[in-house]
Amino acid sequence: MDITTKAIALRATDIKEHDKYILLYSLEHGKISVHARGIRKPSAKLRFCADQFCFGNYQISKSADHNVLKTCEQLQSFYSLREDIVVYYSACAIAESLILCTQEEQSEPAVFLETLKAFSSLTDGVNPYLVVLRFCLSLLQVEGFALTLGRCTMCGQKAQPSYLDLQRGGCLCMDCRNVDSIPVSPAIVTMFGLLDGIAYEKLNNLKFSSEMIKEALHLLDKYISHTFGATNTFGELLKLD
Ligand SMILES: [Zn+2]
Repeated sequence: MDITTKAIALRATDIKEHDKYILLYSLEHGKISVHARGIRKPSAKLRFCADQFCFGNYQISKSADHNVLKTCEQLQSFYSLREDIVVYYSACAIAESLILCTQEEQSEPAVFLETLKAFSSLTDGVNPYLVVLRFCLSLLQVEGFALTLGRCTMCGQKAQPSYLDLQRGGCLCMDCRNVDSIPVSPAIVTMFGLLDGIAYEKLNNLKFSSEMIKEALHLLDKYISHTFGATNTFGELLKLD
């Protein structure tokens, strides 16, 4: 069966002499892996569609256990995401979150649209760290793993000071916390509240110190790594200034 779907290339892996597997995040089929035959030959016309963050209309021959790329029409290259190191690692963190947190071939149009908005915001000069935070909070919510901050997830009372419990995906108060709980400053609780659902174009109106931004990214990284599997790119992003 042939399908055509709008999709973004998240990652490509070399296989055989001239081929690649491209992991796409698509509108109609969610995360989908396709075999691109001959794409590494110098003469290959479709080389562009394995480029990280390429957004295109991908035509795929789909079967139960193997998807083969037939052709692709590029809609946007998002090449500029690769020109600045902070922007690049931010886009990588978004791609990695999609890879870790979403299921194979499960369509989630809201997540697809969020991804396009996040990438467009990165190319438009919106604060890249805030784009990553905004995107991941929203992704976690759609996937059913929203972070509950502010109120204790054990006893229900206002949790201030708050301690993040990775297992519960939320805060505990001083009385309910355990040895593994991670202290969360009240400013971070407020920050996550402000970021929740805000329009991407309004992110630059928010002012946070770089320490707060890094603490917030660090918390999200810990939560995503604990819940879905170890990340690589968040650590790289946190190392940059
Ligand atoms: Zn409590």
